[in-house]
Amino acid sequence: MSAIRNLAASLLTATVLFVSRPNQSQRAAASQQDPLYATHTALFSTFLPVDEFSQDRQISPLFATAEEKIWSQAQSAAAFRQLLMPFAHLRALGDACGVQAYLQPLDTESFAALTLPQREHVLSLLGSCRQNALRHLAASVRDFYISKAYGAIQEPLTGIDLNLKASHEWIEAHTPYLPPTRLRYDRDRHVIVSADGPIDYLIVGSGPAGSVLAHELRRGGKRVLLVERGSFIVPGSMQTRLIDALIDARTSTDGGVFIRNGMAVGGGTQVNVDLCFAPTLPAIQAKINGWRQQGRIGPHDFTLAEIASAYAWVKTAIGTRQLSNSEINANNHVLWDGALRDGLHPKLYDLNTYAPGKSPYPVTDKRSSESQLLLDALQDKQNPLSMIPDADVRRVLFEQDDGKPKAVGVELRMRSPIPEDGVIADPNGFGATSGETIAIHAKPAHSARQPFCCVLEFIMTRSVAASCCIHLCLCLVASNTPSMR
Ligand SMILES: Cc1cc2nc3c(=O)[nH]c(=O)nc-3n(C[C@H](O)[C@H](O)[C@H](O)COP(=O)(O)OP(=O)(O)OC[C@H]3O[C@@H](n4cnc5c(N)ncnc54)[C@H](O)[C@@H]3O)c2cc1C
Repeated sequence: MSAIRNLAASLLTATVLFVSRPNQSQRAAASQQDPLYATHTALFSTFLPVDEFSQDRQISPLFATAEEKIWSQAQSAAAFRQLLMPFAHLRALGDACGVQAYLQPLDTESFAALTLPQREHVLSLLGSCRQNALRHLAASVRDFYISKAYGAIQEPLTGIDLNLKASHEWIEAHTPYLPPTRLRYDRDRHVIVSADGPIDYLIVGSGPAGSVLAHELRRGGKRVLLVERGSFIVPGSMQTRLIDALIDARTSTDGGVFIRNGMAVGGGTQVNVDLCFAPTLPAIQAKINGWRQQGRIGPHDFTLAEIASAYAWVKTAIGTRQLSNSEINANNHVLWDGALRDGLHPKLYDLNTYAPGKSPYPVTDKRSSESQLLLDALQDKQNPLSMIPDADVRRVLFEQDDGKPKAVGVELRMRSPIPEDGVIADPNGFGATSGETIAIHAKPAHSARQPFCCVLEFIMTRSVAASCCIHLCLCLVASNTPSMR
């Protein structure tokens, strides 16, 4: 399934040109040449309202072109073909989920031979099947077609010109200077070493949690290495929220839930919406008090005063601001005014985007943990943060110490940077190829104290991050960890 994700990423980053609609004979020729073509068109027209808009002279050609482009770009990719294959031979799915029984009277095993209601029914059988793999298949194919197709047609459909990328000249002028790397790649041994002594802290993942930890530990004089699976983007060079290659889309193991996360230096802060919910708000306080009552945190942990001071740190470091009344859009104004009329007290949340007209970037108003925390840390002349982007950590390496396991490093697999102008590829000059497996060692940490930070991140150290959790991690880790100050 990760192959499908990679395929999805490469398809979505490709620009879909809106050329003239292929004629009947071209479509027939494609279909004859490749039996999976019919499956592709059937799936496309199941997830998009192709039939409904068949007479619409504006929308119909957009659908047709998107369908053709997806095919032409994906048809030879093994992952795409694997995704389609079960739909060409539905009987091969066996008796599970009732698909066989449903097809019996229809006398076909091909998804493409079914009517739209029949295709929808088959997908609903797969989507509600007891077998994880089949639910997973239904979720993956749906995600693939919806994200590929709507990504491709959104501009012409909405008439909004998406200003996605800065010019090459802007990128060249704004690509950050990085001091010489401390890291050296020993190609023969497949290890990365730090040229000036052992790495004190090795952090995996550069979302808000990893960025705060890296920023603060390094500021405290530690040698810190941050490893990130996604690419390193020149801040402000692209509209990161709309670049699908910066999103990691996966399903839960049962295929029931889709999970979308940022996958770039800056993690979720590159793709998220930018609403900031202060941890001092009553709703969040109620949650924290609940943890306290359940004994999940100590009686004196995360007091309101601590949280307020930590959030003040975040506001300064990240630059959050209160949304002004003039920024409420027309739709939300209806809600706002209605709430006021009913005697309610609607509230404007904080944002961490730049105020209108204040962004220093040509295509985005977005701040991220990359722009607000990591860049300074990477550029510091005294004790720069080390970072390896496009490096997927696959394993934690352990050694035995007095019969106890000690985490001593990680093993990572290099990935290709996303193929965009504005990506800083291989900033350390390792020259490693995509797929290469490399080990990195850091100062050991006993596994018993090995703290895991947030959903996706962990850090190898003795004392920090023991009390991380989603969202709150930003400020709480920074203020509750004496060794970071
Ligand atoms: C579309 C979207 C909108 C959102 N909107 C808001 C909002 O408006 N307000 C709000 O408060 N929150 C919002 N969130 C949630 C918020 O972004 C997350 O809660 C936050 O980013 C989590 O931070 P984190 O550091 O724990 O993890 P992440 O930000 O997910 O960072 C984890 C990083 O680790 C990297 N990684 C994962 N595994 C590995 C590995 N094996 N090797 C190397 N690197 C790895 C990932 O690529 C990623 O960059 C939104 C999230 C999304 C996806």
